[in-house]
Amino acid sequence: MPTESAFVAVVERMRRDTADRNPASRAEHQRARAVLPGGTTRTILHHEPFPLTFVSGDAGTLTDADGHTYVDLVGDYTAGLLGHSDKRVHAAVAEALSNNTSVGGVHPNEIRFAELVCSRFGHQRVRFTNSGTEANLMAITLSRIVTGRSMIMVMYGGYHGGVFYYSHGNAPWNAPFPTIVAPYNDLDACEELINEYGPDLAAVIVEPMLGSGCVPADARFLSGLANAAQRAGAIFITDEVMTSRHGARGLADLLGVRPDIATFGKYFAGGFSIGAFAGRAELLDRFDARNPDAIPHAGTFNNNVATMSAGCVVLSEIFTSDAAITLTARGEELRARIDDVLHQHKLPLSITGFGSMNAVHALARRPTNGKDLLDRDPALQEALFLALLSRGVYTAPRGTLNLGLAVTEWDLDHYLIALDESLGELSEAM
Ligand code: PMP
Repeated sequence: MPTESAFVAVVERMRRDTADRNPASRAEHQRARAVLPGGTTRTILHHEPFPLTFVSGDAGTLTDADGHTYVDLVGDYTAGLLGHSDKRVHAAVAEALSNNTSVGGVHPNEIRFAELVCSRFGHQRVRFTNSGTEANLMAITLSRIVTGRSMIMVMYGGYHGGVFYYSHGNAPWNAPFPTIVAPYNDLDACEELINEYGPDLAAVIVEPMLGSGCVPADARFLSGLANAAQRAGAIFITDEVMTSRHGARGLADLLGVRPDIATFGKYFAGGFSIGAFAGRAELLDRFDARNPDAIPHAGTFNNNVATMSAGCVVLSEIFTSDAAITLTARGEELRARIDDVLHQHKLPLSITGFGSMNAVHALARRPTNGKDLLDRDPALQEALFLALLSRGVYTAPRGTLNLGLAVTEWDLDHYLIALDESLGELSEAM
């Protein structure tokens, strides 16, 4: 990366233009900052000059407070898989809520949702939580208790929730477990670390694709890591909070890997808050409250009626295995089309991803691990984001594109034209 990016001046101009085009969002941002630190309640939503305020959505598009409509390729960071107006989820939730809004007891849809998760993803037991973060916290806690060990291994660049955030290695805001941060896609280095720390290692947790950056695991790496973890007596956890959308049973399955515990979340409940962790009965039954030494697992909203009812419709009617396979193929095709557009310009950009989750990087060579992602040119990354925004396409500022079910071929054509035009504009700055 050059010390001073050629794109710094362009970004400054684009920030000003974005601010000028969005007076209503700017006013909302100023109002928000008086009560929400920085004007948001989710760090990832922040970008310069200020995050837009969205007031409505329809299918694969979003409309902001100033009346601009965007093709939505953020897809709420994969939670918005269904798009913005799926009436089947609304109807199922409305019907369930009309019978009972908040039940301090077991609900039939909770049992049905659990059956659907277990049969689809090949697990014996599942427990629900409110978020992916909590699902990972519980999976790690269970691993520490069953192994009687304390340490966890995570990947540099990995993300498992607000308190498991390793984009720059370990950090003070993370859950205070003894933690080893290992290099993604480097099996030899991981095996060495596992050999060194094995007797203390409770769990190895890994995303089959690094979600922040869409860097897929090499199949040999993931299966080698699973074997090494299991040989050392550690629990192998795949975080499929994002990647369970790929193929019929998630990305680990496509790569031929079976975890001891898998975690889920995001799209699982059609946009309602959700997390889940699943695995073999011998592990998960440690939560069986009929046993005197059961591990407690609390959470007022773990089985809330809206989430449980939405989840049933999502997995049984909308995002069936067939729908998941089709979306994965559509995403693969999209990545190839984006790659073609990138090759028509001379900018230092590359694309990585799998299926419906892809990322365009301000980096000439494709990143293969978390450290590579740090070499992106932040000014070019931001300039691309703002250039697309000005052309009616909402992507994640870090470059990720999450293709959802409601995004049409017309929407994708619009995006590809906007990408081509944006790259033309940015090439002039070089
Ligand atoms: N794991 C992965 C791979 C994620 O992408 C996320 C969310 N971005 C989480 C865990 C945490 O999920 P949540 O935001 O629901 O806590």
